[in-house]
Amino acid sequence: VRYADGKGWYDARVEQRAPIPMDPATAVLHYAQEVFEGLKAYRTVDGGVTLFRPDANAARFRASAQRMAMAPVPERLFLDALEALIRVDREWVPNDPEGSLYLRPFQYASEVFLGVKPSSEYLFLVIASPVGSYFKGGVKPVNVWVSRDYTRAATGGTGAAKCGGNYAASLVAQAEAIEHGCDQVVFLDAVEQKYVEELGGMNVFFVFDDGSIVTPPLTGTILPGITRESVIRLARDGGLTVREELYSYEQWRADAVSGRLREAFACGTAAVITPIGVVRDREGEFTVADGKAGQTTMSLRDTLVGIQRGQFDDPYGWVHRVL
Ligand code: PMP
Repeated sequence: VRYADGKGWYDARVEQRAPIPMDPATAVLHYAQEVFEGLKAYRTVDGGVTLFRPDANAARFRASAQRMAMAPVPERLFLDALEALIRVDREWVPNDPEGSLYLRPFQYASEVFLGVKPSSEYLFLVIASPVGSYFKGGVKPVNVWVSRDYTRAATGGTGAAKCGGNYAASLVAQAEAIEHGCDQVVFLDAVEQKYVEELGGMNVFFVFDDGSIVTPPLTGTILPGITRESVIRLARDGGLTVREELYSYEQWRADAVSGRLREAFACGTAAVITPIGVVRDREGEFTVADGKAGQTTMSLRDTLVGIQRGQFDDPYGWVHRVL
């Protein structure tokens, strides 16, 4: 779908995936005026197809676009685009209980000019690809690398937007994590380099020995994850106390060592919920509890996956039927 100032959104169509010819002076290539989303289409037991909370992705997509000075895609257009693509690609939604069709909506500045100003033309596209389980051979705890050299987002910056630039800024830290045998990087806040913010592509939760749960608050520097919000809701409705509050890396280490911290997990569209095992930085490492998946983590995971895949009732109206 195309957009131009004064004209609005036009030219919606589904076509065979192919390279997009681009002028070398296209704005996005120089100033990274681009935002995206990620969500999955699931096959239901009766052969249908559903999406999980696509309205929440639509809202975040609009908020991200506005932060990047772009005209937001209306919710209806966003949902229509996803549904049109799924209808064409219905055979590509895997039938197995682990797989899904990953959908990647994105929007970028397509105007051709070299000045630093918001573009007046955009392209909104959705591409799709079948994906298997994030975990091969059952849910395994991930090791994480705490970056002491790089932060992800500054106060007043673009941390709460899902824009390509945030990920570009995170790549050296992610590479460092992999070099140190870790799957994901943990970012600390940019002001004091003290508080845990989020992982490279996931939000983070801590479960204490009194059964309470803590997750970093939405201060504008972390991505408001849709899985995060769903987990908070499920935990509270399950009778658990969830506090959105600052939690420092030092406290994390101290609580893990003292045994007060029972579990830590990360969550996002890709892995849904994944336990955190070893936490490593350039000075050493510690293990969360016994390094295995905890009970609260797995029970929240089972509930969420069950709702997403239509095995459990959906009292929240989160599941959106497409076919
Ligand atoms: N934080 C970051 C930086 C991410 O890239 C993601 C993945 N979109 C998340 C958190 C989790 O968000 P969601 O639950 O909406 O996938």
